[in-house]
This record gives sequence, structure tokens and C-alpha cells, in this order.
Amino acid sequence: MLASTGYGATSATEPLAKIDFERRDPKPNDVQIDILYCGVCHSDLHTARNEWGNTVYPVVPGHEIVGRVTKVGNEVTRFKEGDLVGVGCMVDSCQQCSACGEGLEQYCENGFVGTYNGEEGHTGGMTYGGYASNIVVRDKFVLKIPANLDPAGAAPLLCAGITTFSPLRQWKVSPGQKVGIVGLGGLGHMGIKLAHAMGAHVVLFTTSPGKREDAKRLGADDVVVSKNASEMKAHRNSFDFILNTVAAPHSLDPFLDLLKRDGTMTLVGAPATPHPSPQVFSLIMKRRRLAGSLIGGIAETQEMLDFCGQHNIVSDIEMIRIQDINEAYERMLKSDVKYRFVIDMASLKQPS
Ligand code: NAP
Ligand code: ZN
Repeated sequence: MLASTGYGATSATEPLAKIDFERRDPKPNDVQIDILYCGVCHSDLHTARNEWGNTVYPVVPGHEIVGRVTKVGNEVTRFKEGDLVGVGCMVDSCQQCSACGEGLEQYCENGFVGTYNGEEGHTGGMTYGGYASNIVVRDKFVLKIPANLDPAGAAPLLCAGITTFSPLRQWKVSPGQKVGIVGLGGLGHMGIKLAHAMGAHVVLFTTSPGKREDAKRLGADDVVVSKNASEMKAHRNSFDFILNTVAAPHSLDPFLDLLKRDGTMTLVGAPATPHPSPQVFSLIMKRRRLAGSLIGGIAETQEMLDFCGQHNIVSDIEMIRIQDINEAYERMLKSDVKYRFVIDMASLKQPS
């Protein structure tokens, strides 16, 4: 077994602390990676605190991983020692079902293996994520990081990037369309950058008036403070597509009312308690649609990384030490993230 050190939670109420654990030794089709950087996703916090009710402890979160390959199994052809690579939210799937066959591993009919809190399959235990010194991953689930991108800024692309890119592509966001992004956090700021790069007219909806200027800098054409009813009303019936990234329950009706006929609002935010049910009339009057989307497939993740390489897109990050992870979680809960925390994994070697 491969020795690993990281930060994990041993219960829903304990802060994250240093933890030693083991990974499987690399199999013939595995890639072993020394982790350089790991982004901090709100899903890490939901899981560490068992807010979705499915956490198995101890849990080592982290699914926005960038690192260097240190070893490959003898069947691996796409990677070699020294390559800069990424790992996102999945580390395996059945590869047999129709979803996997279509490159939609996130919708694997037998359940994909999450990068953390998933069933490991080889050791009989659980998977442990990227708040750690190293990781072993099946080659198919390892991504190539474009050479021109800053490796730390690229880490959040592995979840926040693909989770926003996939629905923007699925709902065919294109030049001239009016696209709303709800919530300016990790996902939201990537949503702005990507929708802007796809040529859309982008409007940010935020509860934080202080983020107005940042949103414009990130690529928003307009910013609406969603608590302000008259600002909201000015945009009624005008959006082709809205991507809602909010991590807390809220009324969806004020946003559905902004869609034009046949417009869609897609939810990617995954709050622990449900949103209040939307009004049927918000949907039927203009044949509007309410949808959801989960991360993105592996091929699409590589497509997103390459798109970001071409457009020079990375996340706006605040680098932290692993020792500061609990404080980072508290700031995330206050919507005080600009706009993604990324852990410098070299800090693991520093005293706590
Ligand atoms: P984040 O960085 O904390 O950003 C969430 C943003 O939502 C906040 O910055 C804030 O933006 C807004 N917000 C927070 N509380 C709010 C409230 N009470 N009312 C209205 N707006 C509020 O989180 P994230 O990492 O982007 O993740 C967002 C959500 O997506 C989480 O639930 C996460 O688990 C989920 N997620 C889903 C997928 C998927 O595949 N579907 C993948 C990754 C993450 P403003 O200050 O601008 O209002
Ligand atoms: Zn995530």
C-alpha cells in the first residue's frame, strides 16, 4: 500500500485535522500523482459536515486536483513520469453502461466512483480526495493540463470549471444570447468567464453588492442585486438561459420569471435542504424549463481544459495553507471567497 498524508474530518462536528492513510499501489492502468494544488469546493464542506447525509468517516475531501505524475502502470500510454495532470470529481465508473459509452461517466448507471467518499473498489474501503500528498487514479480519469495555464489557477477547473462548462454547452450557449449566472462564488465566477468566452451577453445575479466591480472584471456585462425587486423586474422575460450555482435554499420563482419563452434555468448548486417548490405558473406561462446538471464527462472535461488553454482562462484564486482549511470553510459560508480557495499542498510539510 502507498502511504499518504492529508487533512480530513473524523465526524460532522470536528474540524479537519491531519490524517495518515493508505492508497492502493498502482495497478497496470493506474497513474500515481504527487499533488501540488487542490481547490476547495463547497461540496467538500457539504460532505465534511455530512450535510447530504451520506458521508463515511474519516473523509479526506478535495476534487480539484493538479499534480505531477510520479509513476505509471505498465499499461498506461497517455501519461509518463513528470507530466502535469488533473483529477476532478470522479476516479472510476463501470465503463459498460450506456452512459459511460456516451462519455457521460457522471451519470454512470452503476454509479461513478467519487474522488472522495466513494467506494474504492480495490481496497474495499473508501476513496480519499485531494487534500493530500498523493493520489492513485485509473488512467482514463486523469486529465492533461494545458502547458500555458498556471497550475494553481487551473485546479478549480476540474470541478467548478466543468460543472459550469457542461450545462453551458448542453444548452448551446452561443454569441448573442442573454445568459444569467446566479451566485458569484467558485462555480459562479467560472460560469461568468466561460459564458463570456462563448460570446454570450452575461448578467450576474448576486446577493453581495460588493462583488459588482469584480463581476464586471471577470466578464459580466451587467450585474443585478437579486434582493432588489425593481432591478430584477427590469430583466423579466429576457433570458435564454440561467445557470444557478447558489449553495443555499432560495425561491426560484424570481429567476424563472426572467426567462423568455422556452428559456431554461439549470440548477447546479446542491443545497443541503431543498429550495421551496417553484410556482407552476412561473413555468407554464412561457413554456419555461427548470433543469439540473451534474459535473461533466471525462472527454468533456478535457475539452473544457483545452478551451481554457485556448482562451487563457483560469480561476481567480486565493492560495491557502492546508492548516487554514477550517477558516476557509467558515469564510465560504459567509460568501467571502474571491473566488476559489486553492490549497498549496507544499504546506503539508509545515508544522500545523
Ligand atoms: P461557493 O463558492 O460557496 O459559492 C456559492 C455562492 O452562492 C456564494 O458565493 C453566494 O454568491 C451565493 N450564496 C450563498 N448563500 C446564498 C444565499 N443564502 N442566498 C443566495 N445566494 C447565496 O460555492 P461553490 O463551490 O461555487 O458551489 C456552489 C454549489 O454548487 C454548492 O452547493 C456545491 O455543492 C454545488 N456543486 C454542484 C456541482 C454539480 O455537479 N452540480 C458541482 C460542484 C459544486 P453571492 O455572494 O454572489 O450571492
Ligand atoms: Zn466540486
